[in-house]
Amino acid sequence: MRKIFILTLALVVAAGFAFAGGDSGNSGASDKKMFVTIGTGGVTGVYYPTGGAISKMVNQKSDEYNLKVTVESTGGSVYNVNAIMSGDLEFGIVQSDRQFQAYNGTADWEGNPQENLRAVFSIHPESVSLLAAVDAGIDSLMDLKGKTVNIGNPGSGQRGNATDILEAAGINPESDIKAGGLKAAEAAGMLQDGRIDAYFYTVGHPNGSFKEATAGARAVKFVPLDGAPVEQLVGEYPY
Ligand code: GLU
Repeated sequence: MRKIFILTLALVVAAGFAFAGGDSGNSGASDKKMFVTIGTGGVTGVYYPTGGAISKMVNQKSDEYNLKVTVESTGGSVYNVNAIMSGDLEFGIVQSDRQFQAYNGTADWEGNPQENLRAVFSIHPESVSLLAAVDAGIDSLMDLKGKTVNIGNPGSGQRGNATDILEAAGINPESDIKAGGLKAAEAAGMLQDGRIDAYFYTVGHPNGSFKEATAGARAVKFVPLDGAPVEQLVGEYPY
């Protein structure tokens, strides 16, 4: 497991817990129980059980805190930021790079900075990981050309990471690969079924998705994300 972790730890982003500051409408309601929902990610990721653990801890002292927490499985970081900002969620677990982009108005939030977004605390490191079927012959990023690769559903954190790293490697995600937009929870089964050659997932380890993907009949492997494209991204972006 340690070896796998080092192989996939080329780019680390920290998952944090974010919420929108400002007028929540709940302030001052000290005698009334407050209901809050934490947006997480797919059920085979780490956000979902992490949110579950946080909610369990808080709910054990629900009467003392006047707080009841529920957890929702969602499309991931980008979805969570947008749902927090629109008031559909009170809290969400969000990649630190997505928080940075949202707050500063870049990437998905170009020209639209989300300055009321607040980070509450950081939780665990994640790695941008690429898992491939051994029979697909993918040993490096460049071998992805012509392959069917799941880059992640819109709303996920990994979709932007996958796109950035492909572009840094000179691979056009629209024309050089057959890019899929599956949810992370579906990707492991699709890899085992031979429907995709590889998938990106920005996630903590261990996680249910990779457990499922590595437990099937089709042999799979982690592809190292290293070298010039990763160095370029790390040099270019402060997060
Ligand atoms: N990092 C992923 C995302 O932001 C979610 C990972 C997880 O669910 O553990 O979409």
